[in-house]
Amino acid sequence: MKILALAGDGIGPEITAVTLRCLERLDKRFALDLHIETHEVGLASLKRGGSTLPDAVIKACRAAHGFILGPVSHLEYPPGARNPSGNLRIALDLYANVRPSRCYEGLAHWGRTPMDLVIVRENTEGFYADRNMHEGSGELMPTPDLALSLRKISAQASRRIAQAAFRLALGRRHKVTAVHKANVLKTTEGLFLREVRQVAQEHPEVSYEEQLVDSMAALLVRDAARFDVVVTTNMYGDILSDEAAELAGGLGLAGSINAGDAHCMAQAQHGSAPDIAGKDLANPCSLLLSAGMLLGWLGDRHATPNYLRAQAALEAALAGSLREPATRTRDLGGPLGTRAFGSAVLEKLE
Ligand code: NAD
Repeated sequence: MKILALAGDGIGPEITAVTLRCLERLDKRFALDLHIETHEVGLASLKRGGSTLPDAVIKACRAAHGFILGPVSHLEYPPGARNPSGNLRIALDLYANVRPSRCYEGLAHWGRTPMDLVIVRENTEGFYADRNMHEGSGELMPTPDLALSLRKISAQASRRIAQAAFRLALGRRHKVTAVHKANVLKTTEGLFLREVRQVAQEHPEVSYEEQLVDSMAALLVRDAARFDVVVTTNMYGDILSDEAAELAGGLGLAGSINAGDAHCMAQAQHGSAPDIAGKDLANPCSLLLSAGMLLGWLGDRHATPNYLRAQAALEAALAGSLREPATRTRDLGGPLGTRAFGSAVLEKLE
């Protein structure tokens, strides 16, 4: 299968290099028949060709079986430059951002109870002004002292994200929690809940509950162990998944995929960490786990069990490295740099 790697900015190239080394090892061990192709996006491609996300790269992503996007420094991009992350999600209709957070044996967690949950975040609308209009921007400035933002919630997007969450729950602990703010945003959140409740009725074997987003933020700290699959709209999912990842052990440990019906993008949950870029200090776990999730998604979609075994082997190798203080990266109090951590994982993959 053809996999594209887009390294991105900041620490992106360093953690992508480690991820590709591990994929090559998995390819050999599990006969995955991977064809990995690298393309430039972000500041490097802006400098070389004038665009942070060239059309040719979008086309190549569409033609690939899956792709890996390293973090991008979009805060530094000039006005009007494309954000590869948001643009690829829209262009390829990657509507489900699947963000697991789990604690690892031997590593400290900061929430009061250990967690193993997945946040399923709607990815194509909501408060994100850059992706909720056919033409124009969802942010408006009628006067210099008044700014407005439009939020879009549709029945179709709410329904399909709920379906993705319930499908996932069937392979886990059979529990879905919908997170909302329908007490204030009665119409939009009401529509979201209407669709999720309908999908819940179609899955009587999955237990279903609802939480207000503010209570959810507190409950993640107090008792995250009670949650299995959490489904929510775009911005709540973005914020809660960072909170959950940090409470589970650290943002550097949180993988994610952005999946649609036909395409899948693996992406680290954290940003491009410009403060440590080029210093061999980045923890590559998040992108490694994301690449593993991509293998899992491909395994399910193409009925290729060797891909599922490769994902499990990668996760086991990472958990094994994280268990030992001597094979952890600096952000986790260990002695290893990015490359050395990659070598430790490769050793465990033998
Ligand atoms: P960040 O996640 O890049 O960094 C926050 C802190 O966490 C920093 O101290 C950083 O050094 C540390 N950190 C992050 N990832 C790490 C890793 N793998 N290993 C060790 N430490 C790590 O967030 P930020 O500083 O708010 O944003 C920096 C840039 O990233 C901005 O341009 C922002 O727009 C962009 N960003 C991109 C994405 C994405 O590509 N998906 C997501 C969030 C932010």
